[in-house]
Amino acid sequence: MNKNLKDLFKLPQKSSGTEAKVNDRRSFLQKASLGGLSLGAFINSPIEETLEYTTQKVNRFSAPTDLKITDMRIAEISEVVFRTPIVRIYTNQGIVGHGDVRDGAAKEYALFLKSRLLGENPCNVERLFKKIRQFGHHGRQGGGVSGVEMALWDLAGKAYNVPVYQLLGGKYRDRVRVYCDTTTSPDPTEYAKRMQERVDMGYTALKMDIGINLIKDIPGALINAPEGDLNPYQYEYTKYNMTQHPFTNVQITDKGIDKLMEFLDVMRSQIGYEIPMGTDHWGHFSVNEAIKIARAAEPYNLAYIEDIIPWHYIDQWREITDSSTTPTQTGEDIYTLEGGFKELIDKRAVDIVHPDPNTAGGILETKRIGDYASLHGIGFMHHHAAGPVSFLGCVHSAAATENFKWLEHHAVDKPKWEDLVTGIEKPIVQNGYVKVPEKPGIGVELNEEVVKEFLIKGEKLFAPTPEWNEIRANDRLWS
Ligand SMILES: [Mg+2]
Repeated sequence: MNKNLKDLFKLPQKSSGTEAKVNDRRSFLQKASLGGLSLGAFINSPIEETLEYTTQKVNRFSAPTDLKITDMRIAEISEVVFRTPIVRIYTNQGIVGHGDVRDGAAKEYALFLKSRLLGENPCNVERLFKKIRQFGHHGRQGGGVSGVEMALWDLAGKAYNVPVYQLLGGKYRDRVRVYCDTTTSPDPTEYAKRMQERVDMGYTALKMDIGINLIKDIPGALINAPEGDLNPYQYEYTKYNMTQHPFTNVQITDKGIDKLMEFLDVMRSQIGYEIPMGTDHWGHFSVNEAIKIARAAEPYNLAYIEDIIPWHYIDQWREITDSSTTPTQTGEDIYTLEGGFKELIDKRAVDIVHPDPNTAGGILETKRIGDYASLHGIGFMHHHAAGPVSFLGCVHSAAATENFKWLEHHAVDKPKWEDLVTGIEKPIVQNGYVKVPEKPGIGVELNEEVVKEFLIKGEKLFAPTPEWNEIRANDRLWS
């Protein structure tokens, strides 16, 4: 053991020698801070002195124990992202925290929480999460609680002057690997060309939408086709896209399966077999059709088939997973570990879980899901389709979770998406990776001018919301 490290393990002793050493160190540090020593001056110094010197300028931004939430407001944007309400939480010390309410979700999901948060210390993230957890649910309804949770972490990090990942226990990686989607084409060769462009941009993990939508006009490919001659929905109360998979009675013929596999074949011929390639949006059909696809796709070594049936048919997921070597994946619509991911993981129903931190309950809950999946040997990746604030919020969760694979980037074709934030090196995504931000909190601020440009018509930039200040309610869930 080197001498400096040995010193770290020595117990302090009450001796005049120790006092003398402490005094030495004080005078040393005084000199050091006056003289502005470089790190090179510490080569032969004990590690304690090096640490003390290098961290002496870590000042807390505020007095975190006195920090109080004073307001919550929204700026709702679209075009540059799917419709996304950005939540801003204000405090009594001038610092604000940001999060995104899940893409496509209602801003009211977050505003409904304001009365529960006013006057609270935002640094108590876990306690506040437990207070508001009951007001979130699966799908977009998880967006309010999750967006607020992210904004609380942003505030806690700013208050203590550390990046969020550090508050989660530190990081496993300095860069987070990104995967991206691309636009679809019914022509497999054209589709493969678009995928190749992603590879040329430096992406090292891909996803594509392959599904029955691509073969709906091919005679003999589908039975009971949603838009076919039988017009199967003419007397139904829901249309195809709102009918859950087991109930559509859509079947895929051998010809249909062959056509779908042709897409995978052309794609693999173009981009090769080295790069992970997942698939999504297969369509709405029963577990039997899903098993046919999973088996037929085996030669193409997909990274995963995503959401081939709804997540909550957990036993059916298990059947698909057990039927084939094609990895299965779901989770973007699941809220929280308990009551959500836990059963899926306990039953080993899928090979990979795919929470969206904007639905799953925010940054810490997503890390809990990843850790739980890890215990059961299940992979962990992130869905994301909102703005750069929550994208970077995801990066903190991803950096701090051991078994993390890939984070989704849904705005590759939206050049102004990165302009929504400042204070970070651009481009944010470089060669298929994102550097983990080192600034306090999530690590970015909003560029309000750009946010204004994309506000939804009729919406204002962080307009006052006094109507959400108070509520008469009894939130207790038990008696
Ligand atoms: Mg998806």
